Amino acid sequence: MAKVVSCKDVGMDCDFVAHGETEQDILEQCADHARTAHNMTEITAEFAEKVRAAIRDEAA
Ligand SMILES: [Zn+2]
Repeated sequence: MAKVVSCKDVGMDCDFVAHGETEQDILEQCADHARTAHNMTEITAEFAEKVRAAIRDEAA
């Protein structure tokens, strides 16, 4: 089942949504997005954990 996480889920005021087949896929998309859209130069383990916790199964 596809997984999804939105920037809002991690407390950002942003409409970005990452879709992926795996947590790793989504984490990579979020890292890219955080760097380019939020000027987050370093993806901390804490942030990655926050994203991981917010990932949910996509509604069909
Ligand atoms: Zn965002």
